[in-house]
Amino acid sequence: MTQATGTLYIISAPSGAGKTSLVKALLDQIETVRVSVSHTTRSMRPGEIDGVNYHFTSRETFLELVGHGDFLEHAEVFGNLYGTSQSTVEKTLAEGHDLILEIDWQGAEQVRRALPQARSIFILPPSQKDLRERLTNRGQDDSSVIDRRMAEAVSEMSHCVEYDFLVINDCFQTALEDLKAILRAGRLSFARQQDRHRTLLDALLSERVASQ
Ligand code: GDP
Ligand code: ADP
Ligand code: 5GP
Repeated sequence: MTQATGTLYIISAPSGAGKTSLVKALLDQIETVRVSVSHTTRSMRPGEIDGVNYHFTSRETFLELVGHGDFLEHAEVFGNLYGTSQSTVEKTLAEGHDLILEIDWQGAEQVRRALPQARSIFILPPSQKDLRERLTNRGQDDSSVIDRRMAEAVSEMSHCVEYDFLVINDCFQTALEDLKAILRAGRLSFARQQDRHRTLLDALLSERVASQ
């Protein structure tokens, strides 16, 4: 019997909208979901760990990986290169796990083309003012980086219309519940339920009618 493959979720948002915090909370609450660790040429932020937040690589190594066709998608964001490992995605889905890609809209476009069954979610902040405050309060980027990310936020947000789901991260708990509902619905798809309840379906759909 072949096991149903996991569902691939693309999550995008302008920097500071709360994507990383929401995905972290989601992973704490739903055991079987995984998140893909991207490769990036950006420098490490305080508190980030190589291999956990990102695989931090040099531009040279990154371009070698591109040359070997190792990325399902890759893109330049804020002057840094980011990419998703093709083999990790294939392996995780084949094991039946749901997988989240936290990637920008350019990467989302490439993944949709390669894997049309992927579901995409866009996270928006409640206002531009809140977005700037979150970037400032996070305290990880200096003011010139924050100005650049704010300028890019509007163009990133204009791509929200290309996504299957839209989540507004105003109240964190509500946004988290919305994400959980999207994942839960994915697990109720016929293919996944058929896999989980094969014995029940066989019994219910067998021709023999129980006498009592
Ligand atoms: P954040 O905005 O605070 O999450 O900052 P990051 O440096 O973690 O991410 C910068 C941008 O790169 C975001 O738009 C991410 O969605 C995007 N990004 C991260 N990983 C990938 C990836 O593997 N592929 C692509 N295409 N984009 C990525
Ligand atoms: P992203 O990964 O999208 O750049 P983060 O998850 O790093 O965003 O969140 C940016 C900052 O905003 C963090 O300091 C986080 O704690 C805060 N934050 C996230 N969601 C909310 C929310 N709903 N209300 C207030 N602050 C939030
Ligand atoms: P940060 O550098 O703040 O962690 O991320 C900046 C942006 O890069 C975010 O919008 C994030 O979603 C995006 N990003 C991170 N990893 C990838 C990736 O592997 N591929 C693509 N396309 N974008 C990524």
